[in-house]
Amino acid sequence: MTVYDALRDGNAGARHLIDSFIEILKNIGEVRCLLINKCLTNIGSLPVEGPARTLAIDGTEILIYGANPKAILLLRKALHLLPPETRRSLTMILIISDPGVLSAHFNSDKSDVLHPAHCHPETRVICIDTKHLEARYVWHEAAHARTFNLPKELLDDWLGIADLTYGIDYYEGKKFPTCGLVTRYGATNALEDIATWVEYAYLHLGNKTKIFHKIEDPDPRFMQKLKFLLKWRFITRKCFKKLAPLLR
Ligand SMILES: [Zn+2]
Ligand SMILES: [Zn+2]
Repeated sequence: MTVYDALRDGNAGARHLIDSFIEILKNIGEVRCLLINKCLTNIGSLPVEGPARTLAIDGTEILIYGANPKAILLLRKALHLLPPETRRSLTMILIISDPGVLSAHFNSDKSDVLHPAHCHPETRVICIDTKHLEARYVWHEAAHARTFNLPKELLDDWLGIADLTYGIDYYEGKKFPTCGLVTRYGATNALEDIATWVEYAYLHLGNKTKIFHKIEDPDPRFMQKLKFLLKWRFITRKCFKKLAPLLR
């Protein structure tokens, strides 16, 4: 159900949804209100499920839809690890479980692959398929939100460091990590390269991946990318310090 449906139908669920919004708007400052108003303007096309909840971490409030208490706990833990600058870049998280909505909303480009999550570039709203609600996707999509919230020129800086041609097809038969790319999916484009890096950097922080131990070539781009991510606050210093010794 979208907010617009809710307003039109005026049913009990809708009332609850609207009441939640009013409650939130009463409890937050003007700047955040403006931001939420902007999101509301854009939410008509978004698949909102369930009542809204706010997740407050170190002064950042994130609006969450469709999350049960277990999901809220997972989101809190995952988001807590991120630098505030990245956390503040995302405006809303929608957890989606309706199968019809999933196939329609998550497959809007009619591709064969149904992605577990995505981030809307303009509103920086993150949608996650409830079946794939894992911390790694939260970090991945938060990295997209951060990229969309930074000046576009920074992407040129990243492209300068990457110094390669993006496109999965160019890396047929290659073993990853290679050429400063962590995974094959990261070879898709600069946006996915950044998001994959952030995803795996935090997996590494939690000892959930050995991928960085597999780097065979002493390619300086690995370290340059890690420094970029720290400089622009995609990752914390703690995350940087844990990973840096493996890239030297
Ligand atoms: Zn979406
Ligand atoms: Zn992505």
